[in-house]
Amino acid sequence: MRGSSSRVSALLILISVSLGWQWNLSLLCAADETKLRVATDFPGGAAEVLDIDQSKHLIRFQVPETKTEALRSWWYIHINGIKPGSELQLELVFGKSKAQRASYTTDRQKWLFTEPAIENEKTGAFLYRQKIDATEAWFAWYQPYLLANAEEIINRVSKQPHIQKFVLCQSEANRPVPGIRISEPGVPDDQRFGVWIQARQHAWETGGSWTAHGLIEWLASDAPEAAALRRKASITIIPIMDVDSVEAGLGGKWQNPHDHNRDWSDNPHWKAVQAAQKELKQLDTANKLDIALDLHDPGWEGVFEFWCNPYPVMKGIRRRNTDRFLAAAKQEIVGPLKFDPEVYSPYTIDTPTAGNWLSQRTRPHVVGGTCEIGVCPPPGFHGNPPSFQLTAGKELGLSLLRYLELSNRQVP
Ligand SMILES: [Zn+2]
Repeated sequence: MRGSSSRVSALLILISVSLGWQWNLSLLCAADETKLRVATDFPGGAAEVLDIDQSKHLIRFQVPETKTEALRSWWYIHINGIKPGSELQLELVFGKSKAQRASYTTDRQKWLFTEPAIENEKTGAFLYRQKIDATEAWFAWYQPYLLANAEEIINRVSKQPHIQKFVLCQSEANRPVPGIRISEPGVPDDQRFGVWIQARQHAWETGGSWTAHGLIEWLASDAPEAAALRRKASITIIPIMDVDSVEAGLGGKWQNPHDHNRDWSDNPHWKAVQAAQKELKQLDTANKLDIALDLHDPGWEGVFEFWCNPYPVMKGIRRRNTDRFLAAAKQEIVGPLKFDPEVYSPYTIDTPTAGNWLSQRTRPHVVGGTCEIGVCPPPGFHGNPPSFQLTAGKELGLSLLRYLELSNRQVP
């Protein structure tokens, strides 16, 4: 009896311990569901979480240090366990270029700006406070533009017969660097102009890619001016040059051994730069290149700027054509991001930037340079990211059309 009774007791204890353990485990799981959790293990994800204060809904984080030693500005996080209706507090402790308003979404479709950050004057930290009516949300320095974004629009528009997709090269990590060529039957081939637009040599500068995206969308549209440009020119667009840094959530700029925009020498290190130079040389030699632009964004500031280091000493047809393009851009890029008529020449003419290469290593009639397109919403603008870069892309297309209508091809 005794033995049997103790066996029953042991069994009861075992059952109750087991049930209790399960009950505790389910409690723990339920507790986890209501706790804020941060993830960055997805394309473009980046942040080092320092601590999370669950009672204050406060996440403290910084832009991580990486082996590439690139500029520490880009961050992109996924937050789970949000109590719908609660106000999240994100404290960005360190980041080289901090957005006055971060970008966020609860569905990864529609992105919005947060309320303006509160700066801690002592530490320089930025505090973003945002009420979220969902259990999860994504926050970033700006609305991300990833390889999937480039591939989506390229695949979508290349169903049209006059738009061809191609792969510029495979990256160092064997990712495709996708591009697109747009050209519709119209003028004879020997009268057709050539346009080259590339973006995102600096991975954190998403504004350049969004502008290229806006240009592609407009060029593929039914707009009569877009059709006119398609019939007049062959346009090549590469929305992301440094796909590896973009996908890894790295800054890109200043990375080792040097960034893509310090690689435009006679012996480029990066495969995308090698391939771009090769294509550009072929187009130029075949008399199929008239304008080539490298799109960037300058961080949380800026309008639509043109940077061209040799501009102050530029002479002859190159200077004439560059001035004609600037005049066209001033007429067409009218907002929300307005064109700044001042030409910026911050680097020496032998710095191995794409802008220097495009404006000096091509034939004299070619217009080359860098466009810096701001990501800060312009004064009086109340829309969402990235709508003003998409508009800037369309306006860049209109500028190209206006410029090419002047028949600048005559080489002396
Ligand atoms: Zn840049």
